[in-house]
Amino acid sequence: MTERHRHDQLTVVVAACNEAESLPLLHPRIRAALDGLEGLRTRVLYVDDGSHDGTWEVLCRIAAQDPEVSLLRLSRNFGKEAALTAGLDLVEEGAAMILDADGQDPPELIGQFVARWREGYDDVYGIRVARDGESWVRRAAAAAFYRIIGRLSHTPVPADAGDYRLLSPRVLAALRQLRERHRFMKGLFGWVGFRRIALPYRRAPRLAGRSKFSLWRLWNFALEGITSFSTAPLRLATYLGLFTAAAAFAGGVVVVAKTLLWGDRVAGWPTMMVVILFLGGVQLIALGLIGEYLGRLYEEAKQRPLYLVDTWRPAAGVCSAQH
Ligand code: UDP
Ligand code: MG
Repeated sequence: MTERHRHDQLTVVVAACNEAESLPLLHPRIRAALDGLEGLRTRVLYVDDGSHDGTWEVLCRIAAQDPEVSLLRLSRNFGKEAALTAGLDLVEEGAAMILDADGQDPPELIGQFVARWREGYDDVYGIRVARDGESWVRRAAAAAFYRIIGRLSHTPVPADAGDYRLLSPRVLAALRQLRERHRFMKGLFGWVGFRRIALPYRRAPRLAGRSKFSLWRLWNFALEGITSFSTAPLRLATYLGLFTAAAAFAGGVVVVAKTLLWGDRVAGWPTMMVVILFLGGVQLIALGLIGEYLGRLYEEAKQRPLYLVDTWRPAAGVCSAQH
């Protein structure tokens, strides 16, 4: 059998930042879901993304009782996208299943994801049909964001798809080649392509604790997504510039014609102010846009690693269960 058709190993990757309360509730559910799968060697990989609430100790306790659990601790908080990247980088064999640590993505559905993978799909992504326990502001913001990014990005970013998804080995290999610092994962998943299918699910409320993504952080995340996956705003700036230049030219013609016909009577101070302020505003917007992209170029040019590892604890069962 070729590597492509092997469906015998699955690693559940969970990024956790200050989830000490949720993890003890979540792990038994993951365990039960994995135990219910036939013909699969399974692992759970927890990535501690710089927690400071005892998450690491909780994870160590879980790993001590479950030989299939590996732990990775990052040197500080690098953000969910980097934590997931760190986890996915370590999945050397088989597929990876990404899950939130707060229980919002019900582990009970892992079997359905695996079934789709066995049917030959490479990227099985969960679509949220309901967002229990989220305010209408968040829902409206999310809806607007997906509409905009869907229009702007050349590669698909399915609406309401979270990070709850299963990735086949070849998608994982492809993702490893994308080392950009500004990681908009939802976009990267779409960029690599392969066979994709949606799996609708009900997103549950958090088990415990609070969301780490405030509206401000979500806003920045949205900017990140748009600027990482589209240069449309730059083009918009060009059109804005062209439009104002054309308007200014037309205005200029009118002024010159008026002067030639009726002489120069030094009037039009309000018009001048309006024009100056308008042009100044347009220029500043365009400069800001260019700055956004330049800043990202600067970050990429530094070529820093995406994350740093503090501790890596492979699963106790890894060596014995390799073959
Ligand atoms: N998370 C992380 N690093 C961060 C922020 C969040 O690893 O800097 C993890 C968090 O522990 C959780 C997941 O990312 O497992 C989703 O976070 P959260 O539930 O706060 O986001 P929401 O579900 O509200 O979008
Ligand atoms: Mg959550």
